[in-house]
Amino acid sequence: MNSQPPASHWIAGRAVEDTSGAPLPVRYPATGAVIATLREATPAVIAQAVESAAAGFAVWSRTSPAARGRVLRRAAELIRARGPELARLETLDTGKPVSETRVADWPSGADALEYFGALAAGLTGEHIELGGDFVYTRREPLGICVGIGAWNYPSQIACWKAAPALACGNAMIFKPSELTPLGALKLGEIFAEAGLPEGVFNVVQGAGAVGAALVAHPAVAKVSVTGSVGTGRRVYARAAEGLKHVTLELGGKSPLIVFDDANLDDAVGGAMLGNFYSAGQVCSNGTRVFVQQGILARFLTRLAERTEAIRLGDPLDEATQMGPLISQAQGEKVMDHIAAGKSEGAWLLTGGERAAPEGFADGFFVQPTVFAEVTDTMRIAREEIFGPVMCVLGFGDEEEVIARANATEFGLAAGVFTADLARAHRMVARLRAGTTWINAYNLTPVEAPFGGVKASGLGRENGHAALDHYSQLKSVYVGLGSVEAPF
Ligand code: NDP
Repeated sequence: MNSQPPASHWIAGRAVEDTSGAPLPVRYPATGAVIATLREATPAVIAQAVESAAAGFAVWSRTSPAARGRVLRRAAELIRARGPELARLETLDTGKPVSETRVADWPSGADALEYFGALAAGLTGEHIELGGDFVYTRREPLGICVGIGAWNYPSQIACWKAAPALACGNAMIFKPSELTPLGALKLGEIFAEAGLPEGVFNVVQGAGAVGAALVAHPAVAKVSVTGSVGTGRRVYARAAEGLKHVTLELGGKSPLIVFDDANLDDAVGGAMLGNFYSAGQVCSNGTRVFVQQGILARFLTRLAERTEAIRLGDPLDEATQMGPLISQAQGEKVMDHIAAGKSEGAWLLTGGERAAPEGFADGFFVQPTVFAEVTDTMRIAREEIFGPVMCVLGFGDEEEVIARANATEFGLAAGVFTADLARAHRMVARLRAGTTWINAYNLTPVEAPFGGVKASGLGRENGHAALDHYSQLKSVYVGLGSVEAPF
């Protein structure tokens, strides 16, 4: 279990320690055992990381895009070659079962490195003809970009931010969540092995204050944060003082709408994927499942059967389907919402209790939980729970469900299950969300832009769209004639 890395930070292509930083114990969520002890970045470490990134940027921004792409693709290959080792580390860092971390976390990070590695050489500007004189545009990097990650997909988030940033020629300083600091350090090592010049990718550890110091640093050009709406607001306000570019990937309370004509097992499967994967700790989860009255009873029966068959337990056992929540604090927050659901009169269809798989009494496991007969005003239907808690709400027709689905401050994602494709497209056009699915849920291939509207965020990750958020256009006017000045 011991997962102690060589040092806490990764700066200028090597492991760096400053023993005067406050200790940061890293716990395996399934047992609470301390698997590593790191140190928070001190102001000296932050200064060193910024200096390193500036030096890295000077080299990398002048490296040809094709050469940059080769390094990213080599890093993707190294990640794939080390699949089992990295999946185990991700499981120890997050508590998520290896059956997930093997297929979803690092592999999705490798996809991003491969995809943006392939796009790097294709970055171009344009030529604008003026009938003699002309303008061309240069797509230039922003400079030093700061990435700040949440704890639910630590390595995927690090890769999703680093891949487009580096493809465009930027340097990055990444600060993982203090709960899950190990994956990003591994990514630093992998990049070095893949041939990334020193200083282009740096990792510093610490809690919110370290992130805040990076956001405020005058040498930083851009910040991309994945986290809660509250953190997003604070980061946005601080970045605004320095007029910095910002990408915000924040929380949600997304609607998943099931019509009477939907394939029952697909809809139930989609709802389970969108509520129970990663023990429900997924930002885009469809936590408000609206089910049309004609299919509601059958939907609930099938959902209860399949939910009760979910195997909780040892995250390192391949057969386990659900692990613990990330921490005691997150577990208590989830149980508080479950208590609110019970007291507000929702029907607890299944689950609703803490679970204690044998040998894991100190992990915070929560039974996969379904509340039915939920109403729009209940707390469980309004607030992001970030745990394995699904709310099922009945509805009558399209107009009603669109109005109710959109009645939220969030707008990250939405899904529709129906056999009527005209209706499906009509619905997604009216759903106020950045990412939507038809007869599927929570699939986030790197080729597709991902992000939210309203309080769920700003900007997009993945897809070609991400390149726009890590580069800026310079217009170059070229005069071919003599200058006609009116003076
Ligand atoms: P937090 O908002 O608590 O933290 C996110 C990151 O921001 C952490 O690294 C945190 O550091 C850091 N941070 C906290 N305060 C500040 C600050 N003032 N300035 C700079 N950085 C700061 O989120 P969680 O880690 O609890 O993650 C859960 C949340 O993330 C959920 O709301 C979820 O919906 C959202 N999320 C969104 C996704 C998306 O793509 N839209 C994907 C995944 C999660 P530390 O934790 O070390 O204190």
